[in-house]
Amino acid sequence: MAERVVLFLFKQDKEKLQSFSASLEALKHLKVCTRCFHIAENELCDICSDAKRFSDTLCVVEEPLDVIAIERTGSYQGLYHVLGGLLDGGQNENNSLHITELIERVKDGGIKEVILATNPTTEGDLTALYLKKKLELFKIKITRIGRGMATGGDIEYADELTLISSLTNRQKLV
Ligand code: ZN
Repeated sequence: MAERVVLFLFKQDKEKLQSFSASLEALKHLKVCTRCFHIAENELCDICSDAKRFSDTLCVVEEPLDVIAIERTGSYQGLYHVLGGLLDGGQNENNSLHITELIERVKDGGIKEVILATNPTTEGDLTALYLKKKLELFKIKITRIGRGMATGGDIEYADELTLISSLTNRQKLV
């Protein structure tokens, strides 16, 4: 596998290689935001450290690529929480997911709405329901992204209009 990658790179022009190498270099300096677990260059990511964002709304997503996809729409002004994966239907909570940290953030107060924006797949729905049960102890609004997105669809690959409508048409989970 590594040999194939090297051979592929060898065939690329010098300019492309240069920019690829710069990207790799930048990757070494990337961190994970200590608050929302999105990709960050500092302790906090650009979104968490932006005072203009609405800090009373949290959008819960599976991975950083989902944050990037939603940010691209320019239609969401709140903050995020990246889970780092989904529950797979097993009985036990997957400890590598940032669920405890999410609950801590809500417990700390100041949050009025949590939007569960996991993908509309079996695991995504299951995770959303699980989080809803954990979060309904707090006096906050819990919503799920709307059905604008096709079932089984992937936020990461959804077009911008679909994502915007799916965020706008989010529904209160009861
Ligand atoms: Zn962050």
